[in-house]
Amino acid sequence: MDLVCLDLEGVLIPEIWIAFAEKTGIDALKATTRDIPDYDVLMKQRLRILNEHGLRLQDIQDVIATLSPLPGAADFLDSLRESYQVVILSDTFYEFAKPLMAQLNWPTLLCHKLVIDEEGRVADYKIRQPDPKRTSVKAFHSLLYRIFAAGDSYNDTTMLSEADVGFLFRAPANVIEEFPQFRTTDDYSELRRFIDEAAESL
Ligand SMILES: [Mg+2]
Repeated sequence: MDLVCLDLEGVLIPEIWIAFAEKTGIDALKATTRDIPDYDVLMKQRLRILNEHGLRLQDIQDVIATLSPLPGAADFLDSLRESYQVVILSDTFYEFAKPLMAQLNWPTLLCHKLVIDEEGRVADYKIRQPDPKRTSVKAFHSLLYRIFAAGDSYNDTTMLSEADVGFLFRAPANVIEEFPQFRTTDDYSELRRFIDEAAESL
């Protein structure tokens, strides 16, 4: 039995915070873990900025709903799901991903959750579990699935290592250089070929 685990942002949809910052013109929201390595500090800053701009969850979701999946992503995913079980493993939040998941025909998504207060503001967030991508692949292995995984960034590399075969997709040059053990591609049809070849050869 085969299961494909895919990262979400940078693989199927744009980076939500960057795209959201561009749409709203709030430049301070463009900071990523490259600027602020401590994720908790970064998230606290993001939530403070959202609240400073008076943005409630519904306003944020309305903006996110104007974003689209990456060109070709929906077709790639639909076709992949005809041949494989597919689970998306992401460090985003259900509430932010929702408008984009609708455009991807609601694939299975394991990610984190926001805490929304009575007025609809984003008060806090809940990380599902530590090292969630690797832990998820381990859990699927315990169900005797073979796992093929693809992602674009540092937070995917433990998932790719834990999988039977891992691929880098549209990864930046520094990640490709640091993790030469993973085949890499920028193209959905080539990624599909890599997955099919791995499934046939194992
Ligand atoms: Mg990503």
